[in-house]
Amino acid sequence: MPPRIAIVLPCYNEQEVLPSTARTLLALLDRFAADGIIAPDSYIMCSNDGSRDGTRSIIAALHSADPRVKGITLAHNRGQQAALLAGLMSVRERCDAAITIDADLQDNPEMMRRMIELFSRGTDIVYGVRSSRDSDSWFKRVSAQTFYRFQSAMGLQTVYNHADYRLMSRRALDILSQYGESNLYLRGIMPDIGLRTAVVEYARTERTAGESKYPLGKMLALSIDGITSFTAKPMRMIFLVGLSLLLIDVIVALWVLYVHLTHHTVTGWSSLMLSVWFLGSLILMSIGIVGEYIGKIFVEVKRRPRYNIEEEIF
Ligand code: UDP
Ligand code: MG
Repeated sequence: MPPRIAIVLPCYNEQEVLPSTARTLLALLDRFAADGIIAPDSYIMCSNDGSRDGTRSIIAALHSADPRVKGITLAHNRGQQAALLAGLMSVRERCDAAITIDADLQDNPEMMRRMIELFSRGTDIVYGVRSSRDSDSWFKRVSAQTFYRFQSAMGLQTVYNHADYRLMSRRALDILSQYGESNLYLRGIMPDIGLRTAVVEYARTERTAGESKYPLGKMLALSIDGITSFTAKPMRMIFLVGLSLLLIDVIVALWVLYVHLTHHTVTGWSSLMLSVWFLGSLILMSIGIVGEYIGKIFVEVKRRPRYNIEEEIF
């Protein structure tokens, strides 16, 4: 039996692109089903992220024209990550694998064929990875690359140049459903899930209609969310800064002593200098130590699964 595939689209104010996106994807499903690589009841799930334009009624119209287009509507705009999760959770028990892709189809949908092939051969997560960023504006390219570098410097593990175009098997979806965190950053959770993974490369194209729903502000918020939901490294850095300052203190102390003995300093200057430096580094180190504990709390409160079972033979 070929697998039943659900294509999950996060949609925020996407009235300009949805009709053509649905047409393209339905044609794609028809072709794949004719080739026997997917089940004929594979479908599209539009996860409407509280859009304020005609997205909702367009989804309803598309559904009446072809019931393979399905939809859920979130009550508020919760952001792409939440829309993705909502879509994935709603298809979890009604598919063998789900593929998430942006509604503007900037990520070549033809790559789904390769993703499904890999899935049929036992891969649980297939990452779509951009081979180049030529289609991006200079600003988007530089800011995105800075974002990836900064994340990895902060100790966050992600797949380089992978956004949210990916296939997840039902097993991977079941594990994902156990992640209860509300600051959602799927790209960080994926490597944490484990299982068998593969990568499919493609070139990204420009948006054909509508405009980007990711202005700089949203991108920054996502980046900060990613780092602060996955690593306590910035807090550890506070401690290290304090420790380095303590070493510098020794040099400062020698210098203060030298000036104190050889020049006429203002009364109180030397003691003031020494206390400012020593106390400064002590305070930083103390904050760093408190940070270590907060880091532990941060890991505990997430209640992430402690292990994920790939297979059970009983
Ligand atoms: N999106 C969403 N909620 C938001 C912002 C964006 O569901 O608050 C969706 C949007 O509809 C699209 C995807 O996330 O399907 C990526 O957005 P966009 O294409 O605007 O981002 P870009 O390609 O410019 O990075
Ligand atoms: Mg886009």
